[in-house]
Formats: sequence, C-alpha cells, structure tokens
Amino acid sequence: MNSTASHPTPLLRTVVGEITPDSVRGPVLAHEHLVLDLDHKGDGAAVLAPDRHAAAVTAELAALREEFGLSLVIELTCRGMGRDVETLARIARDAQVAVVAATGWYYEPFHTPEIDDSSVEQLTGTLVREIHGGIGATGVRPGVLGEIGSHGDTPTAPETKVLRASARAAVTTGLSVATHAQLGRGGLAQLDLLTAEGLPPQRISIGHQDLLDDPAVHRELAASGAYVAFDTVGKDSYQSDGTRLRLLLALLEAGHADRVLLSCDISRHGYLTTEGGQGYGHLFHSFLPQARAAGVDEDLIDLMTRRNPLRFLTGASVEEI
Ligand SMILES: [Zn+2]
Repeated sequence: MNSTASHPTPLLRTVVGEITPDSVRGPVLAHEHLVLDLDHKGDGAAVLAPDRHAAAVTAELAALREEFGLSLVIELTCRGMGRDVETLARIARDAQVAVVAATGWYYEPFHTPEIDDSSVEQLTGTLVREIHGGIGATGVRPGVLGEIGSHGDTPTAPETKVLRASARAAVTTGLSVATHAQLGRGGLAQLDLLTAEGLPPQRISIGHQDLLDDPAVHRELAASGAYVAFDTVGKDSYQSDGTRLRLLLALLEAGHADRVLLSCDISRHGYLTTEGGQGYGHLFHSFLPQARAAGVDEDLIDLMTRRNPLRFLTGASVEEI
C-alpha cells in the first residue's frame, strides 16, 4: 500500500470548515438528519424545523458529546429534503460536534423538477458546482453525496439518472456517495450503477441494509468493498433491534467488520427524546450495549463507529485510519 506520506489523507469538509480525520477522536453518526422537511409530500411529522426543533437537536448532540464523545455527524439531507446548511452550522457550533453536509437527490417521490428536465451531464454539473462553489449563497460546501435514493429492486429511470450523475460528481470531486435503498431493497443495483460510472466501491455506502433480512446480500455488498449501512437503528416499526443485531453479528462473523456503518437516521420530530422518541443517542444508549453483551469488543465498536465512517468519507485505506 502507499504510505500516508505520499498520499496524505484528504481533509473532512464540515459545515464550519475543514478538519483532519485524526482530529475526530470519538464516534461518528454515519447517517442522520438534523434539519429536514419532507412535509411537502403530505407527511407533517417528517419535519425537523430550524425554528421549532433545532434547540432540541443541539441539546441532544451536546449531551452525546459529553457522555460518549460524539465527534461527527454525517447529515444526509439533500436537495428537495428541506436542507438548511446555515442552521446546520449553528447546530454544529452550539453543540461542538462536527457536521458534514450533503448534496444530491433522494428517491423519486422527492425529486425536484430539474431532474426530469436535465441530462445526466447537466445533473452532474449541478452537483459539481455545488460541491466546488458552495450551497446557494452560504459558502458552505457539501462533504458527501447523499442520501441518493431509489426504491424497489431496480432504480427507476429518473433514479438511475441521479445515481449516475452522483457517481460522476463523486469521481470528479473526490467525495463519496451514501445511498437510500428504500426498505433495504435495490442495494446491489445501486452499487452496479455507481461503479459502472467509475466510482470505486470503497467510496460507496449502501443505505438501510438493516431493514433487509438477507445476510447474503450484506456479504456480497461488503465483499465488493462497499460499506453496508445499518443506519436505522432503533426504528422498531420497520425492524426490531433484535433482528438488526442478528444481521450485524452475521456480517461480523463473515469477516466484514471493516465495511459496517451505524446510525439512527432520525427523520421525524417524534423521534427526538424531548418528544418521547429514541433520539440520536439510541445507538449508544441501547444498541451498542446489546452488541457488547453479544461479544462485540471495544476495538470493533471503534472500527464501526469511528474509523469506518472516516474511511468512507475520505477514501482512506484500513492502514491509514
Ligand atoms: Zn435518511
């Protein structure tokens, strides 16, 4: 492998500036939403509003920093999802937790009109301009592409266009791509589309795999070199944590710990602890203790919650981080 001296690890681009990966000493939440608005599709609860919820979000993150050393949140709210990077910057400063913002498009029901009207080349250009020039007039630059969505076993034509544009933008800019595979389905098709555009598997995270009770698919994704995101931990209405843990242990048993990402995907205000929900801390308060009780040691937990997300974001190798 190349030494770190000849290939310095890229910086992480957060909403308040660039940081080095080795400054991230504590765990990372690999797929979250801190500000979100999916209400325009008729789901009034799928909102994390800057005015009504940012204080509660900030307080949760600050408490997790104090108790567990939470150091970084990968915030995957993209175009059409109510993204608000100025509020993200305020939350990051107030909570003293680094936040990486995203660009891209979610799955088809949330596509913005520009997708139908644009070619893959034009969509790629939109993403690259935002990655280089910042989001709107904020000057804040995205540090990841996500959550790039599809639903069903095969992405639809517009979703295919977005996946291809995202891969091309990632190759051009050196960022990575995190996907939304609706209910865990279609991950292998997403991987095929992204890699066909020249994006290496280690720059790809396939989302919501904990909702898919199919260990063979998890092994296939991981063996390709892509990250397998168990990113809806605590969402019991979709999957029990007991099943999640069984699927995680199977993937670890198969030797793929270095491909696992973990997160809670808080996407409704009812999930906040102030509203009686599981909160961003569910991973640390509930799921990781269950994993420890099942024999997962601290080095594996550090790998899954810190080193893996840092390697996903930067493309660094196992030897580097
Ligand atoms: Zn999400």
